Amino acid sequence: MVNKSVKQQLVEHVASLLECRSCPHMHPAVVSGGPVVSRVLLVGQAPGDKEPVLGRPFAWTAGKTLFRWFKEAAGVSEAQFRSSVYMAAVCRCFPGKKATGGDRVPASEEILNCARWLDRELLILRPALVIPVGKLAINQFIPSGKLDDIIGRQFPVARAGNSFDIIPLPHPSGASPWHRMEPGKSLLKKALDLIVKHPQFRVMLSSFVACGGGDRG
Ligand code: SF4
Repeated sequence: MVNKSVKQQLVEHVASLLECRSCPHMHPAVVSGGPVVSRVLLVGQAPGDKEPVLGRPFAWTAGKTLFRWFKEAAGVSEAQFRSSVYMAAVCRCFPGKKATGGDRVPASEEILNCARWLDRELLILRPALVIPVGKLAINQFIPSGKLDDIIGRQFPVARAGNSFDIIPLPHPSGASPWHRMEPGKSLLKKALDLIVKHPQFRVMLSSFVACGGGDRG
């Protein structure tokens, strides 16, 4: 039997993921960043209502802030980031709106349903660095705690038969002012510095240099 390449496994994985309809209260379509072979994973929370229409994660205002952070910290453009980092999420479908406004927080059963996709990605890609964005994503890897105690730190994690580092980021949505006020501002900068200095992120950055700099303007 011929072993499938990581790329082939990931292509098949994403094709299956896009067909998932396990959660009856989630709104299709499934949002995926595509089969990007990478040892750096970003794990978001759940898409909003714009992402299924635009067909990519972090496609709206929170994404603008997130990609600006990486541009300022590492000179990485949104296009470079999307083509070099595998973008996963706690839930890959839009949960819908709450009656009181704002997006519904995924139910624990939905989080559990979608965790099998993340586990499979950890198995296929064997990442060295995982960047969970927002409390819901962070809590999939380490016990919940105050952002003040978690952001700006690196944690060793074992999951799905793989060991890797996580460096959490706060959620970039405008809903929370945490990252715009102290100590959040300084802790966010510390977290981004840790990511940029992480050996696996540096491998990614050096590949941009080897490719002639690409779209870093
Ligand atoms: S949230 Fe995840 S598990 Fe649920 S339907 Fe969407 S892709 Fe499937």
